[in-house]
Amino acid sequence: MPEPATIHTIVDLLKQRDDINLDQVLLAYEFAEEMHSGKMRRSGEPSIVHSLETAKLLVELHMDEATIIAGLLHDLGKYAPDSLATVRKHFGSDVYEIISGVMKLGMLKYRGVERYIENLRRMFVAIANDIRVIIVKFADRIHDLETMDALSEDQRRRIALESLEIYAPIANRLGIGTLKGRIEDLAFRHVDPENYRWTSEQMEQRIKGRDEILKKIIGSAQDLLSNEGITVRSIHGRAKHIYSLYRKLLRKKQNFDEIHDLVAVRIVVDNIHDCYAALGALHDHWRPVKGYIKDYIAVPKANGYQSLHTTVFCDDGNIVEFQIRTEKMHYEAEYGIAAHWKYVEAGKPKEGATISKHKIEWLNHLMQLHKEIQDGRAYLKHTKLELFDHQIFIFTPQGDIMDLPEGATVIDFAYRVHTNVGNSCVGAKINDKIATLDTRLNSGDLVEILTDKHRNTPNPDWLRFARTRSAKSHIRAALHRAHQLELAKTARS
Ligand code: MN
Repeated sequence: MPEPATIHTIVDLLKQRDDINLDQVLLAYEFAEEMHSGKMRRSGEPSIVHSLETAKLLVELHMDEATIIAGLLHDLGKYAPDSLATVRKHFGSDVYEIISGVMKLGMLKYRGVERYIENLRRMFVAIANDIRVIIVKFADRIHDLETMDALSEDQRRRIALESLEIYAPIANRLGIGTLKGRIEDLAFRHVDPENYRWTSEQMEQRIKGRDEILKKIIGSAQDLLSNEGITVRSIHGRAKHIYSLYRKLLRKKQNFDEIHDLVAVRIVVDNIHDCYAALGALHDHWRPVKGYIKDYIAVPKANGYQSLHTTVFCDDGNIVEFQIRTEKMHYEAEYGIAAHWKYVEAGKPKEGATISKHKIEWLNHLMQLHKEIQDGRAYLKHTKLELFDHQIFIFTPQGDIMDLPEGATVIDFAYRVHTNVGNSCVGAKINDKIATLDTRLNSGDLVEILTDKHRNTPNPDWLRFARTRSAKSHIRAALHRAHQLELAKTARS
């Protein structure tokens, strides 16, 4: 086990960053430490350790100051809910918004019903609304997964399954390879301990047996490329993640001999031209396996992943996969959308500690636009649709989630809950604040409808601000019924 993170580890890692105000980070740490004082996690660890580990991972992902501070403070809602107002005051609304987003994501209930899973993924992204919220939640979840041993088997299984079904696929879509693999492996150990053990033991044995051979092959490849005048930035063997290996084994009827990328050799070169030159040099020397050459540079994967892949017969009958890429491609494959964050921010002047929500939206938009133009491909439009379509997700007080179209108001939600709730509603509480029926809702709002049991007829005015067809038709139907009743009464009297 590595040493637990301390604020000193974090400060050391941040020292070379000129976009980070260390005093603010230290201030946030002191505040968190005070608020967490005496609080323990079920694992027996002081709860501040979890906050530090979360923040450290965010530092490793090169996130910005607000995100790192939000990582340190992300659990205050749990341990010291009264302190959130202070957070906004001292650390700005950006930090506050990220923490609120993380708390909302914590409310999503995973039920493991297959047809809800894709919806749940969408809700996750829609509720987060800011890419930084998702990344804090990922960091939080990774440390949770690492420290689950004190939880009951049921809890562990639920959290691990949720991580596999919701978190890892989102990390994959956002192109954050380093998080996807980590989340999957940590979760797999809890979801299916037996197969996890079997796969990792098998893998270890095989890698150990091939260690020397691989070293030789890497040496030869290095010489080969140097002889062609290609500068190799780095070349190293990288073991496959356990979970993705297991998935592949299932497809290959558990036959290890059919897996040629148990350890892939990753070659990082200076530019795209050198990528193709390197591929040519390898093929010139070693015969490629038919059907295994993949040009993800010309045709990137849907999440933006770029590299050249090839599998070749090396000397002595060994089969090895090579992955060739530039430094930028490497960085993007590891950090995905988080890498873009860094690229976009790097060339810009600093504007104090906080970045407005506007800027985030703009940034998200820019990143998409940038990629679309760069690649001239339609896939991103598709990704965008899938990730941010025109839906909002509203929590009921019971923690259930209802989806509504953008622009929906309280009255739409009331009718969505139940027709009788709609007919008898008089107002609502949105996030604990009283609100009128015409109030527009936002993703992640927790809405409680206030009803009057003596009331069962809608107000015709509601038709002015009901947005959904279903609410409108229910209102019309109830008005019509009331009108008929009225007529009948008049006729009788
Ligand atoms: Mn946490």
